[in-house]
Amino acid sequence: MDDPLKQSFLKEIDNIVSFQDLINLKAKYVGKKGLLTEKIKNLGRLSSEERKIQGKALNELKNFIEEKIKNKEIELKQKEISESLKKEIIDITLPGKDYYFGGCHPVNKTLYEIIDIFREIGFTVEEGPEVELDYYNFEALNIPKNHPARDMQDTFYVSEDIVLRTHTSPVQVRVMEKKKPPLRFISPGKVYRCDSDITHTPMFHQVEGLMVDENIAFSHLKGVLVFFLQRLFGENIPVRFRPSFFPFTEPSTEIDIGCIICGAKGCRVCKGTGWLEVLGAGMVHPNVFKFAGYPEGKFTGFAFGMGVERLTMLKYGIDDIRLFFENDIRFLRQF
Ligand SMILES: [Zn+2]
Repeated sequence: MDDPLKQSFLKEIDNIVSFQDLINLKAKYVGKKGLLTEKIKNLGRLSSEERKIQGKALNELKNFIEEKIKNKEIELKQKEISESLKKEIIDITLPGKDYYFGGCHPVNKTLYEIIDIFREIGFTVEEGPEVELDYYNFEALNIPKNHPARDMQDTFYVSEDIVLRTHTSPVQVRVMEKKKPPLRFISPGKVYRCDSDITHTPMFHQVEGLMVDENIAFSHLKGVLVFFLQRLFGENIPVRFRPSFFPFTEPSTEIDIGCIICGAKGCRVCKGTGWLEVLGAGMVHPNVFKFAGYPEGKFTGFAFGMGVERLTMLKYGIDDIRLFFENDIRFLRQF
């Protein structure tokens, strides 16, 4: 059938270049009020003989138009894809972008070093919660409510019975509750105190250590900690033990190393003494064993604790602890 409608449709579809034009063309011919649609609607007016012939022809035309439109749509899509491929071409010969790889934070570096040294002599690693019960942070460590030792630490209280742990020592009690001696572990982690100046930050890292068994003596404490300090600061580092006080150890000691800044001659960092305090330690107080539920008098042991930021400052000669947490890339890149 050489229909003028077909002829005009073919002419128009040849000139279509956009999807919107194609949609309009579709509406014009086969839409609800399209030219062809109207013709089909008008079939009812014809005689049944005529209707059969015309109806068949119009239906064929309708299928023909719809087929053409579908093909045109595919053609337009392919054209769009090939054009965008041409536009977005990538020159794979161009040099790549430079990426900066993050480094290990100096505090973590020291922390990993500490863990490695203790692993060498059979210490495992244990962890505990940073939001801690008052019971584990104080009471079970022989620091009852109203004990003057609580004033030694400026505590962040979450509620009356819950604190941000002020030291890693509560892990001692938590582990002892679960495990029986022999125990030999360290527990590294974050601790919190309400304090901030060039040597204090509200959050810092500690490593706690505990060794418990039958017949553990002060000489074991000395042997382990001198070994540790010599590994960390060098074999010739002078070490001295001073008597001290902690509520959860008896006897207690603080351990100094010869000042590594001035070579023990006396300087600002060691306040002219030639010595730097690096560790607190002592023999576990019998009351702590009692809280852990150990039989009285059966076990002895020693505990120790250290500040990781402080050790890092000494190791690298850094004089302001706040530098660790300002995240100034120029500072961090030096490690
Ligand atoms: Zn010094």
